[in-house]
Amino acid sequence: MTEQTTFLELAQLFSALEATTKRNEKKALISSFLLQLREGEVQPVLAFLTGRVFPEADARVLDVGGRTVWRLERGVKQSLLDQTPLTILNVSQLFHEVSQVRGKGSRRRKEDLIERLLSQATPLERKYLIRLILGEMRIGVVEGVALDATADAASVDSSLVRRANMLMGDLGKVAELALSQGAAGLSRVQVTLFTPVKPMLATMSYDVAEVLSAQGGRMGFEYKFDGARVQIHLQGDEVKVFSRRLTDVTRSIPEVVDVAKTQITAEAALLDGEVIAYGAEGRPLPFQDLMRRFRRIHRVDTLTETIPLKLYLFDVLHLNGEMLIDRPYQERWRLLTKICKPTLLADRIVTDRVAEAQAFLNSAVKHGHEGIVAKTLNSRYTPGTRGKRWFKIKPVETLDLVITAADWGYGRRTGWLSNYHLAARNVETGEYWSVGKTFKGLTDEEFREMTCRLQQVKTRETPHTVYVKPHIVVEVAFNEIQRSSQYPSRFALRFARITRIRVDKRPEDADTLHRLQALYEQQFKYKSRLQLDVK
Ligand code: AMP
Repeated sequence: MTEQTTFLELAQLFSALEATTKRNEKKALISSFLLQLREGEVQPVLAFLTGRVFPEADARVLDVGGRTVWRLERGVKQSLLDQTPLTILNVSQLFHEVSQVRGKGSRRRKEDLIERLLSQATPLERKYLIRLILGEMRIGVVEGVALDATADAASVDSSLVRRANMLMGDLGKVAELALSQGAAGLSRVQVTLFTPVKPMLATMSYDVAEVLSAQGGRMGFEYKFDGARVQIHLQGDEVKVFSRRLTDVTRSIPEVVDVAKTQITAEAALLDGEVIAYGAEGRPLPFQDLMRRFRRIHRVDTLTETIPLKLYLFDVLHLNGEMLIDRPYQERWRLLTKICKPTLLADRIVTDRVAEAQAFLNSAVKHGHEGIVAKTLNSRYTPGTRGKRWFKIKPVETLDLVITAADWGYGRRTGWLSNYHLAARNVETGEYWSVGKTFKGLTDEEFREMTCRLQQVKTRETPHTVYVKPHIVVEVAFNEIQRSSQYPSRFALRFARITRIRVDKRPEDADTLHRLQALYEQQFKYKSRLQLDVK
């Protein structure tokens, strides 16, 4: 028998967790399981429990599509004779191998690996492996339960575990530390330079008045830059930059490193901010262009000119050896202003007046930014949490679009037509041209209803997709219109989600491609356009 814990034992835990809705029971189950684990198993188990193949901060991805997994599952041979049992470490290792497959023929090789894994698994194991790969665990283990279970297993106060988790940004590492070194080890955890901290997040709010009245009194308002979050760690000559997902992006953005080295007057600091790409007239470029920079590791210099970056700082978490996360926001801001030039600071006002904050929101949009973030002046920096201290406020755009086809869902959405092809009206041809797809925004009930309604207007179908007469109109919210080579319309919506089913509208009332074009152009009223984009 193996020394390692089998994956079957973990699958049985998943099954027990799925069978109860009681938080305390879940906690007890996890806690006793953690105590039985052997070296190296705690980290993958914590990731798997919270529905992740790899830890949250990990840059590795499997990159295997949902359909592929279901297809492989169907092809798996049921014979399990003479199979050595899978262990947790085997599974974790295999996921790692899949993530490392690159280049030509990589799809096939990834599939082979997954197929091997599935064929080695018992039916129970297979069920959870598939859910894991698809990112749909549904065993009801949120991070909070996992943290409390860890605290119980290590016999330490849960606040210590939570604090360590915020500072270390990795549940698995925290659990390993808690179990091996207990309270003493956990309390030694500090904001450590060059170890990324989970960024503090903002809660969505619809308008300035709502935020001001709920918070009562003065608040700080900053532009919300539509870029990528960066966390800059700096000490002497050494600089490291981490992304929102805590991956090291230092090599992709040399000019940001340069700014940190030359324009911050501190011996050591941990700074929080946003990087945007900007174009010719100094206005921001769309998010799509920025991402090209963040993905690039090689030949970065060829892009530093076409897609230059600009850094905006809005917080400081550590300064010259001192941890600042428990100090109030206004004090952190004051310290930040002392160590950098005003040009590096996020545009900001402090006010208790709705009109002033509203004018500031309008000016943010006019300058090509996404909106504003309202921050309570006395708030601490709470890493990794989306609390009631930071509020993002942005004007949202919607379009009324027609559903022209829908894909059958898989996993939890099996049996529902749940991924909708959205189209705008082409007034010249009278056709409806796709501008994107979405499976977001509907309730289970609405999915069911929509499945029925769509089948009534079916024109043809393939195994995955039902094509329909243009009949149903939905209101779709989105964050940006992008250029796309995927659709004949040449447009695609970013973050499309259905906000309403417009039973009151006929397809002829839907928005046109002209309107899409106009909205797209309008984006550039305040944003720059990349030259190479004009194809
Ligand atoms: P969201 O990603 O929509 O949840 O919005 C929160 C994100 O806005 C943060 O994670 C930052 O990346 C970004 N952001 C842009 N400007 C600011 C700002 N001034 N303060 C805080 N976050 C900002």
